[in-house]
Amino acid sequence: MAMLEVKGLTKKFGGLVANDDIAFAVKEGEILGLIGPNGAGKSTLFDLLTGFQRPDAGYVSFLGRSLLGSRPDQISRLGVGRTFQKLRPFDHMTVEENVMVGVLQHTANLRVAREQALGALFFVGLLEKRGAHGHMLSTGQRKRLELARAMATRPRLLLMDEVSGGVDQRSLPGLIDLVNRLKQQGMTMIIIEHNMQVLMSLADRVLALHLGRKIAEGTPEEIQNDRKVIESYLGLAYA
Ligand code: ADP
Ligand code: MG
Repeated sequence: MAMLEVKGLTKKFGGLVANDDIAFAVKEGEILGLIGPNGAGKSTLFDLLTGFQRPDAGYVSFLGRSLLGSRPDQISRLGVGRTFQKLRPFDHMTVEENVMVGVLQHTANLRVAREQALGALFFVGLLEKRGAHGHMLSTGQRKRLELARAMATRPRLLLMDEVSGGVDQRSLPGLIDLVNRLKQQGMTMIIIEHNMQVLMSLADRVLALHLGRKIAEGTPEEIQNDRKVIESYLGLAYA
């Protein structure tokens, strides 16, 4: 049985079909890459999977259970974690408190929450920044904070929106290394990633979106050689 199963998923914003009849599945331990030009519907798909938007049609099941109608906090508690493309740390809180917010979904015990938050910060390499405020962090550090916050909810499926987007060349290898460590630990992930080299090194399978539709799905190699993908996306990136 697939860990995540998506069928006929459709989301309209007025006359715009942001997700159009999308179907795919993710197996436990698998890393699915999600690609497509800006506006293809990638972040909207994450919003539908995590309850931040309601689909107009379709079906999402996680570990055999329908996620339709569930709120983001409920879906998080069921084990679907995510990071956001637009980073949104709480600037009035310290790095440590930001991560504790994630843990407190699972426990009301502050001591336990602090321990787990510090564990997650250690994992992403941000422990020494625990007392800093969100706005004092670089983009790379904010990405790490986002990841720590998602990890602190102890997800079984992790959705990462634009892993390397906006991150400078110097910080990139460290971030990739982090995702690789999660992969080695067996974390199931869907990653949106524009850097094809990065994506090809991480993903087991890739799904390509264009204008809200799935236009291709396959191994990284198949996707790189897919005519539709080259025309709609890779052509632009390579040009
Ligand atoms: P991607 O992440 O692939 O760049 P998005 O999922 O963010 O694409 O957006 C897909 C399309 O849906 C875009 O045309 C975008 O303008 C539109 N869209 C996304 N969110 C909203 C919203 N909340 N309201 C209206 N339109 C939206
Ligand atoms: Mg997006």
